[in-house]
Amino acid sequence: MSTTARAAVLNGVDESFVFEDVVLQDPRPDELLVRIVAAGLCHTDLAVQHGHIPSAFPRVLGHEGAGIVERVGADVTGFAEGDHVAVSFASCGRCENCLAGRPAYCLQFMLLNIGGVRADGTGTMALPDGGEVVGSFFGQSSFATHALVAARNAVKIDKDVPLELVGPLGCGIQTGAGTVLNSLGVGAGDALVVSGTGAVGLSAIMAAKAAGATTIVAVDVLPERLEAAKRLGATHLVDGKVDDVVDQIKAATGGVGAEYALDTTAIPAVIGNLVASARFGAKVATVGVPKPDAVAPVGLFSGSGVTLVGAIEGDAVPQTFIPKLLAMYKAGEFPFDTLVTTYPFDEIEKAIADTQSGAAVKAVLVMP
Ligand SMILES: [Zn+2]
Ligand SMILES: [Zn+2]
Repeated sequence: MSTTARAAVLNGVDESFVFEDVVLQDPRPDELLVRIVAAGLCHTDLAVQHGHIPSAFPRVLGHEGAGIVERVGADVTGFAEGDHVAVSFASCGRCENCLAGRPAYCLQFMLLNIGGVRADGTGTMALPDGGEVVGSFFGQSSFATHALVAARNAVKIDKDVPLELVGPLGCGIQTGAGTVLNSLGVGAGDALVVSGTGAVGLSAIMAAKAAGATTIVAVDVLPERLEAAKRLGATHLVDGKVDDVVDQIKAATGGVGAEYALDTTAIPAVIGNLVASARFGAKVATVGVPKPDAVAPVGLFSGSGVTLVGAIEGDAVPQTFIPKLLAMYKAGEFPFDTLVTTYPFDEIEKAIADTQSGAAVKAVLVMP
């Protein structure tokens, strides 16, 4: 018995989303059918919409899904009908990196998350007339009322946490917090610079504060974002539009620069400023999706001892990391709920416009 879902379908680069029915296959033995309650909007969805990540079309995007398990594949253990879940990125579970506890670097990451298919190459959905539509975006395609997901991608969530909040833990918020806590290993007394204070950057700032970092420098061009950064733990604010960004960051970090930096903008000049202002031997992480022709400022690395880390999904194992973030949230140390603005599903275009203007930090679409 297949499932008909209402989905936001993208028919090509720079097009608007249109609402259509799609037909999901029955769950395979290792899969779950999840009734999506809410799904976050992430810049990676917009990177596909604008052609920065190549994709086949028509396609159903959405990769920060949260919902309720409706059907459980025959071989799945640990999940039952009615469980609340957040759905995170897909990984194979069998490659060297998955086995080493680094599923964000799964050797099949691109196939399983961007490729639109399961590991065996099969798709998960079709149009009602049998026509092709590409699903499986990050193993879910959660801009829809239902999603077919591998049980391996799902994280069980306590029922006292609203499902409208938890979807973004599966990607954007996990990325910001995980890059600070896992990829960089920021700790007590450390200094961190964060460029771009959207959902990822603000999550990074909250995590750095929770970890005991004592100098947290936020760089952004939007005054209201810098104010949000200050509320959430930034100790110094730098207007990214000024000419002396590098000098201001250095001044905020004792003249020697910070030992850690995180770029969320993927803009080469901004990354260059972070490297130029970083401490000798610093670690600089970058997590955004650059334009295809973006080039790193190699001259700034030479002789600096700086390591550039291309971090994916905060180096997280979602099944252990997301519960930690929720424990921090419940303890009042990770107020990620303050980042979320909800929109009815049919207002997806408004949610995108508000995300692009900066009016919304983390837009979450709530299903009818
Ligand atoms: Zn793998
Ligand atoms: Zn994402």
